[in-house]
Amino acid sequence: MNIYIGKNNLCNLGTYLSDSSIHRLYIITDETVNDLYMEYLKSSVDDFNTYVYILPPGEENKSIDNVLSIYDDLIGKGIDRKTLILSFGGGVVGDMTGFVASTYKRGLRYLQIPTTLLAQVDSSIGGKTGFDYKGIKNIIGSFYFPEAIFTDVTFLKSLPKREITCGLGEVFKYGLIEDYNLFQFAKDNLDYIYSKDLDTLMSIVDRSVAIKKNIVSRDRYDVGLRNILNFGHTIGHSIEAFYDFNKFNHGEAVILGMMYEFYMALELGLIEKEYFQEVFHTLNSILSPILFSQKEIEELIDIMRNDKKNVDNNIVFVLPVDKGKVHVFYSIEEDLIVKALKGDWF
Ligand code: NAD
Ligand code: ZN
Repeated sequence: MNIYIGKNNLCNLGTYLSDSSIHRLYIITDETVNDLYMEYLKSSVDDFNTYVYILPPGEENKSIDNVLSIYDDLIGKGIDRKTLILSFGGGVVGDMTGFVASTYKRGLRYLQIPTTLLAQVDSSIGGKTGFDYKGIKNIIGSFYFPEAIFTDVTFLKSLPKREITCGLGEVFKYGLIEDYNLFQFAKDNLDYIYSKDLDTLMSIVDRSVAIKKNIVSRDRYDVGLRNILNFGHTIGHSIEAFYDFNKFNHGEAVILGMMYEFYMALELGLIEKEYFQEVFHTLNSILSPILFSQKEIEELIDIMRNDKKNVDNNIVFVLPVDKGKVHVFYSIEEDLIVKALKGDWF
């Protein structure tokens, strides 16, 4: 799978398509991205007959009803296997488009054009597709890889600050699991990142994509190594779910999860105090942690007990063991989780 990363690089998409045997394009996007960038996308593919399907934006629209509406539209327009499906948007659009592409007529060719930082560094890579059902995130889905990803960092210019923070959560995660230099680079260039300096964004997107692509290529269907991508996610997911997915976005919850999990690693003697402080202060500078009550902690731990990574009823944690290095731990004492979440250490 090729990933083309650049600035104003959608002209390459036109070349890519003219070399394929595609007759039509079916673009799935959301209202925000449609208003901001559809003209730019269309000007890059102007030789093609295109259809556009526009979803309302937001996680609450990552639903079976919207998937069914897209199927209805595909059937109504007589879309066949000579049509290329194009996902144009953030992770919500990407996950749903991938699912539709993997299931309609047993699978159509498809490309991803991610437009948020989170989608560029994370959700567009790795082949996971799906939607939320009965309040459970990503409960229905499939593995289906796009044939290529076109990542244009100029889309990030219009991204709200909060969405930059969400993507940064995953960028910091890649640094902490695999590449301490990436962590340091992002930490030292926070002002450039938030002011959307394109060269700085290119650097962090490039490096993050390389890390995720490499891990995914060694564990395509998430049965082993990909577990390390869940650093910060055991506690992060529980915080997201605890607030019914409407207080913290995913990337924000991962930032919080990484803070508490770093403290657990410090308490276990896995890392030096100096490393802990460097990481904690960096994460704390973009998002403040929370003090949880005993009752809230019990609920959070109940949620963690249902984590898909768990083995034999043990809550599984990915914890740092050195700069840019993590291990998976299968038997962590509950008292330590409680101590971390109480937050009286920060
Ligand atoms: P999102 O798709 O909801 O996008 C966030 C907001 O930004 C939306 O309102 C969107 O309209 C807007 N937006 C998109 N591009 C923009 C741009 N260039 N300028 C201005 N606004 C823009 O959210 P997200 O953070 O991109 O993705 C979150 C989703 O990704 C979740 O559903 C999560 O489950 C999923 N996810 C999937 C994977 C995976 O491996 N498949 C990994 C991580 C997250
Ligand atoms: Zn994540």
